[in-house]
Amino acid sequence: MKKIRVAIAGATGMVGQSFVMLNQDHRNFEVVLVAASDRSAGKPYYEAVDGRWVMGEEIPPNIAEMRVYDALDVDAIAGQVDLIFSAISLGQKETAELEERYARCEIPVVSNNSAHRWTPDVPMVIPELNHSHLQVISAQRKRLGTKRGFIAVKPNCSIQSYVSAIYPLLDLGPYELMVSTYQAVSGAGKTLKTWPEMQDNVIPYIAGEEEKSEKEPLKILGHVGQGEICPASFIKISAQCVRVPVSNGHLATVSMNLRKPVTCEDIIERWRSFKTLPQKLGLPSAPNPFLTYFDEDDRPQPRLDRYLQQGMGIAIGRLREDPIFDFKFVALSHNTVRGAAGGAILLAEFLYDQGDI
Ligand code: NAP
Repeated sequence: MKKIRVAIAGATGMVGQSFVMLNQDHRNFEVVLVAASDRSAGKPYYEAVDGRWVMGEEIPPNIAEMRVYDALDVDAIAGQVDLIFSAISLGQKETAELEERYARCEIPVVSNNSAHRWTPDVPMVIPELNHSHLQVISAQRKRLGTKRGFIAVKPNCSIQSYVSAIYPLLDLGPYELMVSTYQAVSGAGKTLKTWPEMQDNVIPYIAGEEEKSEKEPLKILGHVGQGEICPASFIKISAQCVRVPVSNGHLATVSMNLRKPVTCEDIIERWRSFKTLPQKLGLPSAPNPFLTYFDEDDRPQPRLDRYLQQGMGIAIGRLREDPIFDFKFVALSHNTVRGAAGGAILLAEFLYDQGDI
């Protein structure tokens, strides 16, 4: 089968490196171009990432020798690829403009960046949950004047675990969530080595993260209106986000109120039996099962459970009744795999399967 030609914009960064590794030997995608800032442009990839390659395995030989393009050189990139994974760290306005320029050149863009998450006709998708939102792509194409090009985004890494856990409970009427996230240093594009202030410490502030953690779930839980996604208004979320000295894996503790009565056993059964379309379609990056509930009191833990289902699974545990809310539980997801490159690749696989790419 002919593979889709892929570019990674932001390929030298933490998420970009993850894209490089997760696209290796992919059944549908082949990385043919890597792009980054003008600081890296013109260098072979191995030289551009020298001293900051953080993946456990070596750089794939076919990528190591590739010349890095300037991600802003849209014309040079556009003629060579069929799909762009965007993992650039630029300002919001610049990123939004750049991604639209790619799309207007008829290249589908699947982005990690937050710049377009609130553009009403840009779907923000966790493929197991709200793939129906991809319907708005036709309205977006009309606005952009494109036949093929569009932008689809994945949501912030902090929300993947608890929104996925809430989804199978929607008919029970969840209406209030109190969430605390314990977020790994890789979420800031750093390692424990390059961020010595994180040793023996927690930092109770992550810029912009609490707002994203409270609002992005509303778009995921929203519905398709006239060519746009209308955010949900049936639920309120309060989030506190804390940086902790963990390399990878964002943990969330969640308290929730539900409108309908239910038992812990029923909730656990809903999580264990939750079936979703990407798994049914057998998409290469779809974890099976999507949700795993642990009975052990001390799970999930980032070190033990972040690579559940190759980092794409959602780990849940410690469901119990709460003296103030109805229930509380703990959830975990890998922030640079499920929460970044892996989640974006699964979204692209879904779009490919549906004929949108
Ligand atoms: P990072 O490690 O700092 O990498 C940033 C990338 O953007 C590098 O490839 C860099 O190229 C490129 N870049 C920077 N300035 C540029 C410019 N002016 N023009 C073109 N390219 C430029 O960041 P990251 O952690 O990988 O995050 C990338 C994006 O994904 C961010 O938007 C972030 O918010 C989002 N995200 C991150 C995570 C996570 O867990 N880390 C999760 C979800 C989403 P050079 O190497 O040449 O400077």
